[in-house]
Amino acid sequence: MGREVINKYVTIKTHIDGAPQDSDFELKTAALRLWAEPGSNDVIVKNLHVSIDPYQLNRMKGYSSSHRTINFAVPISPGMDIDAYGVGRVVASGHPEFEEDDLVVGLISWGEYSVVKGGNTLRKLDPMGFPLSNHVGILGFSGLAAHGGFFQVCKPKKGEKVFVSAASGSVGNLVGQYAKLFGCYVVGCAGSKQKVNLLKEKLGFDDAFNYKEETDLKSTLKRYFPDGIDIYFDNVGAEMLEAAVANMNIFGRVAVCGVISQYTDSGKRAAPDMLDIVYKRITIQGFLAADLMNGYTDFISTTQDYLNDGKIQVIEDISQGVESIPSAFVGLFRGDNVGKKIVKIADE
Ligand code: NAP
Repeated sequence: MGREVINKYVTIKTHIDGAPQDSDFELKTAALRLWAEPGSNDVIVKNLHVSIDPYQLNRMKGYSSSHRTINFAVPISPGMDIDAYGVGRVVASGHPEFEEDDLVVGLISWGEYSVVKGGNTLRKLDPMGFPLSNHVGILGFSGLAAHGGFFQVCKPKKGEKVFVSAASGSVGNLVGQYAKLFGCYVVGCAGSKQKVNLLKEKLGFDDAFNYKEETDLKSTLKRYFPDGIDIYFDNVGAEMLEAAVANMNIFGRVAVCGVISQYTDSGKRAAPDMLDIVYKRITIQGFLAADLMNGYTDFISTTQDYLNDGKIQVIEDISQGVESIPSAFVGLFRGDNVGKKIVKIADE
């Protein structure tokens, strides 16, 4: 009937409306039998690596317009398990498609073990020789958001001028690298000198700047793009989006991947000059990676080839142990992370 373990997991104490703090979270324990009723379709997973993503903050709010949009954005109630993307190993299965010891990727949880009901948010994982953490980031949803967001939403042409915000982050660093490999001119912004150096020296960005040192973002972007921006890949929203729109060229495209500066401040808004939108015929399109699955095969094969040929760099920021989840998450909103933030829960 399976052995019993004490499962440690992270929950929120109350809804979070503002910047998250470590004290908003608590580590709970509960006894868990590593057994699944045959025919139940339940899968018990030992979590190995879990993803730490900004969108989870919107789920933790008392109210967010995101809550009713798509099933992975549903609200999280205080005390509840927090489901999150990640990689784990099956320890018990009542589902015909999964067996003990299978490696799986999909929606697990911020804890040591996950009970996945119905198993339909999981799939078997063949790591194909890549570290398991890569399947959480570059070969997971960050990679898909970057690749699909850039190629399907921005529809780039070679030589176009691309601006990326939160450019040293998980999605941003990949957008910049894909855009360079495709043949665009790429400038990124990030929140520290060390991040700016990484973009220019390791990731091949044509240029980069620290937005925290700039006082007038419109003129900053004019300085970096004297001939205008063709594509803006937005991860932050608010003032940066306004400044980018002011500097866009005719028929420019803005892909709105996320608006992290607005997640912690519900009063913040972007108010781009709509005359720019009309007369420059600018497209602003929000998207979710889940909508881009038709480009998945292309994304995975291209990215694996780039990895095998050493053409793309993997930037990961990994903390150890379930106890580090709250600070890893809080750090996203302070710019602590460089590249994909992951918590490694256990060795393989
Ligand atoms: P990330 O960029 O790895 O981490 C967040 C980064 O955002 C921080 O390191 C920080 O870097 C920057 N940041 C934090 N607060 C900020 C603020 N107030 N203003 C400007 N920058 C701020 O996270 P990610 O997972 O790659 O996500 C990036 C964005 O894409 C988020 O908005 C996220 O919600 C979105 N996203 C969307 C999809 C989708 O399907 N549409 C999928 C994945 C992610 P600095 O040091 O540079 O400030």
